[in-house]
Amino acid sequence: MPFSDFHGNADVVHTLREMLAREHFPHAVIISGPEGAGKFTLAQMMAKAMNCLERPVSDGLPDFCGHCLNCVRIAEGDALEERFAEAVEARENLREADKRETRILVQTHPDVLIIPPDPPQMLVKVDQVRHVIREIYYKPAEGRERVYIFSDAGFMKEATNALLKVLEEPPEFATLFLLTDNPSALLPTIRSRCMIVGLAPVPASEVEQYLARVRPEWKPRERDLVARVCGGGIGRARSFDLAAYLTARQDALALLLPAVGDAGHSALFQVTDTYRSGAEGRAKTEQLIRVLYSLLQDLLCLKSGVPELVRNRDIQPQLTRMAAEVDFAWIAAATQHLGEVESGMRRNLLRSLALDSFSTSLER
Ligand SMILES: [Zn+2]
Repeated sequence: MPFSDFHGNADVVHTLREMLAREHFPHAVIISGPEGAGKFTLAQMMAKAMNCLERPVSDGLPDFCGHCLNCVRIAEGDALEERFAEAVEARENLREADKRETRILVQTHPDVLIIPPDPPQMLVKVDQVRHVIREIYYKPAEGRERVYIFSDAGFMKEATNALLKVLEEPPEFATLFLLTDNPSALLPTIRSRCMIVGLAPVPASEVEQYLARVRPEWKPRERDLVARVCGGGIGRARSFDLAAYLTARQDALALLLPAVGDAGHSALFQVTDTYRSGAEGRAKTEQLIRVLYSLLQDLLCLKSGVPELVRNRDIQPQLTRMAAEVDFAWIAAATQHLGEVESGMRRNLLRSLALDSFSTSLER
């Protein structure tokens, strides 16, 4: 899967490859962009191009073959969520004392290290950066370039300070990638030592064309929905769980409909009763809340006379009827209540009751 398989942001990809061709690649690059825009995919592609044994050229610029030993081993890290889950599970199985000492790292090639945020805080910790410092000054073992990818660059304070030391004096043969959806959250001292490239969301029409190829089983209507809900995140769109989304949306509508006089409470209680405690219930509730936000946003778009921005376009007639029953104040109050449910969830309030009270609070 060469660079031509990267979707959107052709200019950014071109620039990075040109720098690679001129051997002027910066030692540290911040790739910023919304979730699913392809930050990690692009960093992995650069790692492959830097270390590919066959070094193919396309459009006059460096590419990667995808099948040499280096490409194949680096590609094992492409499925980052799986590698991350394996690393977390391996740590869970350690003795208590070792658990505390072990940091989450993903390494499928000796010269390419992925540093994910370390749970439970989901921030990069100082020991992870120390690990980088310990090995970054050794020459690459089997490739040409040592590559370090911070897949979600939020750092604990001590980790930031340690990272600054590396950024001040990086070795010739190493490149660091810091991936973030919010570069302004990084300290100016870090930003000033990195080159920043931004990935823009891919236009919905482009995401849709892409989905037509990779998810041919989806109907055009469904592809349109996914492209809009994912807001230009091509990675999100590819792995989108449409069935789970539709179920959550059905439930979200059951919560909103009594308020617009379109349904009774028995349907509501049947739905909220399925939102239980525990980790699974938590994930389910989080998705429900996300969908509720997107429906409230759609109602706002309809009330504001910009129906073209509606994301759940497949149920636009129903949303239009709902929008006619509510006003801006209602939408604002609903959004605020939803925020309260969200923070209540963090305090582990009973989910079904919180959802019931959210729904009844919307009735006037
Ligand atoms: Zn290769």
